[in-house]
Amino acid sequence: MSFDLSGRRIWVAGDRGMVGSALVRRLAQDGHDVLAAPRGTLDLTRQAEVEAWVAANRPDVVVIAAARVGGIAANAARPVDFLHDNLLIEANIMAAAAATGVAKLLFLGSSCIYPRLAAQPMAEEALLTGPLEPTNQWYAIAKIAGIKLAEAYRQQHGLDFISAMPTNLYGPGDNYDLESSHVIPALIRKAVAARDAGDAAMTVWGSGTPLREFMHVDDLADALVFLLEHYSAAEHINVGTGQEVTIADVARLIGEVVGFAGDLVFDTSRPDGTPRKLMDSSRLLGLGWRPRIGLREGLADAYRAFQAHDGVRLG
Ligand code: GDP
Repeated sequence: MSFDLSGRRIWVAGDRGMVGSALVRRLAQDGHDVLAAPRGTLDLTRQAEVEAWVAANRPDVVVIAAARVGGIAANAARPVDFLHDNLLIEANIMAAAAATGVAKLLFLGSSCIYPRLAAQPMAEEALLTGPLEPTNQWYAIAKIAGIKLAEAYRQQHGLDFISAMPTNLYGPGDNYDLESSHVIPALIRKAVAARDAGDAAMTVWGSGTPLREFMHVDDLADALVFLLEHYSAAEHINVGTGQEVTIADVARLIGEVVGFAGDLVFDTSRPDGTPRKLMDSSRLLGLGWRPRIGLREGLADAYRAFQAHDGVRLG
């Protein structure tokens, strides 16, 4: 089974974000044209604006890469933004896509949809089998609703809506604001600052013991194109590397990549979040897709992008 993207009008909602911009780059490699709303002209939380844009531009393929995203502190500080805005963005885009009759829609979630203490690695079936991690429950609830909404459109209207759940992502275009970012951009920025200041140590939040699985966003973009072309089913599908690392080890690796040789100080007044978050990506791997970018190589690329101010947002 395969879906041909050539000649299709593809709309990547969220094309200026880390994921959306990586997907636009990846689609361009294959010579595909991508639709984009000019900056500041489309508020995805406004239903009428989204309907009007989709009706006027008539995409054949829609990817929902738009979302309010952020790290552990941002979720705690802005629960309404993470729940309300994400619900509206996904509901508005899916309704407009259904009304215009798109050939395919891909919704993007996150590994935090799975229960805090889900069996590891977390398979797709773990969804809704237990309580969520409280630090990112707002975002998770919105993303779970999005998965179910895509499934509902498939069931009620026979539309080819699919959902992919990426693991923790990093890469060019990431958010480097120290309070709202995820761990990798934060530690790259902190390691550069500590190196340049000649500091003896840099601070890492939490105990350093949580385990995370990280994927470079260019690998995700490649997987998303693969899924658009080869996946069509009601159930969401995990997108991960299968490799996990402790926060302390990723901090050390970032120190090596950046050239900071000092110590790590663990600030346990900051939360650890979920203890372990490794996805079971065997369904995707079984379809024949493979990640290509190892963690050290990927971190070196993220550091390059940070130095070059390549899409870097400092908050
Ligand atoms: P999570 O995967 O949803 O928990 O999101 P994060 O990427 O924000 O955090 C991952 C882990 O890295 C958590 O255990 C954090 O406490 C830890 N961490 C260590 N230092 C930092 C930092 O400077 N910023 C962030 N966001 N997390 C950090």
